[in-house]
Amino acid sequence: MNLRGVNHQLVKIKNRNLILRLIYERGSISRQEISRLIGLTPATVTNITGELLEKGFITELSNFREKSSAGRKAVPLAINPTAGYVIGVDIRPKIVRMSISDLLGRLSNIESFPYNSNRDELIETLVEKLQVLTEDRDILGIGIGVPGLVDSSSGEVKISPNLGWKNLNLSGPIEKSLRIPVTVENNVRVMALGERWFGKGKKSDNFILVYVSLGVGSGIVISGKIYKGINNSAGEIGHTVVSEDGELCNCGKKGCLETFASARAIVKNFKGTSLDEDSDIDEIKSAIEKGDKRAIEIVNRAGHYLGVGISNLVNILDPEMIILAGRVIRLGKTLLFPMRESLESRLFSTNKIRIEISELGKEIGLYGASALALEKFFYDKEEL
Ligand SMILES: [Zn+2]
Repeated sequence: MNLRGVNHQLVKIKNRNLILRLIYERGSISRQEISRLIGLTPATVTNITGELLEKGFITELSNFREKSSAGRKAVPLAINPTAGYVIGVDIRPKIVRMSISDLLGRLSNIESFPYNSNRDELIETLVEKLQVLTEDRDILGIGIGVPGLVDSSSGEVKISPNLGWKNLNLSGPIEKSLRIPVTVENNVRVMALGERWFGKGKKSDNFILVYVSLGVGSGIVISGKIYKGINNSAGEIGHTVVSEDGELCNCGKKGCLETFASARAIVKNFKGTSLDEDSDIDEIKSAIEKGDKRAIEIVNRAGHYLGVGISNLVNILDPEMIILAGRVIRLGKTLLFPMRESLESRLFSTNKIRIEISELGKEIGLYGASALALEKFFYDKEEL
């Protein structure tokens, strides 16, 4: 293909992405509005929405005709949620969760299964379970979120300290067995995509999801795209140093944010034991509610350092919004008040930041993995 052909292809993909984005953001919107907001000619909009209509991915809401400015009836367009499905897979230490999602991120068939350290066995079980889920359904793609360093272009998990994996090609064997496109990405980046498609990031092109759970990580969205960095390691806020004389982190450095604000650190500081259950955070929450001074102090301190870490991100990237998610965020104002205070006192004078709490809940990883598969399907190729 010559350069002009490549360019034409890229322009088409870019325009389709803009139009789809707008339909997702607005819920329903007429061709005229699309044309006005994006600045594309009516002919281009008709052309691109025509393809989406023909494939069934969008639909005309013929009962809701609005008067357009030209006096003609404008027909709103909306996503046709059941035109196709994707599968989201959320791989966590010891457990895999998976679900089907329609085009609007409505999850169904949520299930989970435990696994041991044998990676081949895990892939085999995963393929079996996916085979069942893909029966009788038009599956557009599979998205998989994995903690650790992931090269999404090759589908390889480079290193995952939490899972004990190194150099594992995850997408290859699954794609080969199922003949469905499989995309693998770091789990927190995947969650940021979940926010972008279905959550609070729907209307924002520049935001950062900060996920505070077992560890602390972030997914950075700049100009509507996930920022990955040259080594695929962008967003490692958990390993930024917030106190030079802090404790030794499992990455080998001292005073990383994770040593103060992760669930692992908070539970260790409070109970003197390592964290193994989700309920540990609830235990600390109830200690706080009973007025336990030590619990309050530990969580206040975690909030303070979380604010320090986030202020560095905000001062460097100047995003529109920070979205907070993860089990530690459930600790509420005991964490969030000191966080906000230390964050705001450290912001460069012209910076303002909106802080939001994610509404995707415990299934944020599944929403994200579904969004990853949708993004791959809609945004990456010329022909749908
Ligand atoms: Zn560290």
